[in-house]
Amino acid sequence: MKKTMILGLATLLGVLTSCGGKATSETTLHVIFDNPAPRTMPLALFGDVPAELVTSLNIAEGVPSSVSVMLMEKDGQQCLFDAGNGNNDSRLLPRMGELGFSASDIDVIFITHLHGDHIGGLVKDGQPVFPQAKLYIPSVELDAWTKSPESTPQNVKDMMEAYGEKLVKYTLEDPLPVGVKPIAAYGHTPGHTIYRIDNKLIVGDIMHGVALQMEHPEFCARFDMDKEQAIASRKAIMEMAKKEGLTMYGMHFPTEEGI
Ligand SMILES: [Zn+2]
Repeated sequence: MKKTMILGLATLLGVLTSCGGKATSETTLHVIFDNPAPRTMPLALFGDVPAELVTSLNIAEGVPSSVSVMLMEKDGQQCLFDAGNGNNDSRLLPRMGELGFSASDIDVIFITHLHGDHIGGLVKDGQPVFPQAKLYIPSVELDAWTKSPESTPQNVKDMMEAYGEKLVKYTLEDPLPVGVKPIAAYGHTPGHTIYRIDNKLIVGDIMHGVALQMEHPEFCARFDMDKEQAIASRKAIMEMAKKEGLTMYGMHFPTEEGI
């Protein structure tokens, strides 16, 4: 094929991809279930849910859930959002392998918050599981958990030690790699932060039981550290997603498609 023809074809493809309407840009998002089997959150986690609501939502056996990690390919960078729990039966690395990625392919990791089911997969035997990755952690969250050496959880210490200078503590005003935008969604933890990419919203732990909390955001899972703030954030983020037509992906959502 002549060079001009190739160029013409490339231009045409460019026009097609930019006009196609479908998300044909270079962003691909994979939702990876870290848990080996389908999971439910026990109903008791959500406090006193009225019996009629339990029946109408069909959640008597628990609320469908997961432990998930998102892997995004964008602008030639492979990015993770959180890293799962790192348990022995964690499926993150095998499932990444099925998608054609190894741990050393990951360039950037964005952390929503510092609970163990989100950072447990970052470190093994004192070593970074993702040796090439820069680890982006919101400053409000990191500061809250590291007020003093005595109060800093061991897994947070291990993470800081393993990633060293590759750990980047950022503020919400800082530009992040590949145009990812952090948004404060405090309450679940002091600095719980979610991420927006185009029309996708990685919402972290804004909900632990979608079937219940989508309709009734006033219910908190026991893990929400500041319940009032968590409810306000949940409502605000869902409102934003609705208004702007964004698809939400959560670390405890039961689907891989987002909602
Ligand atoms: Zn969680």
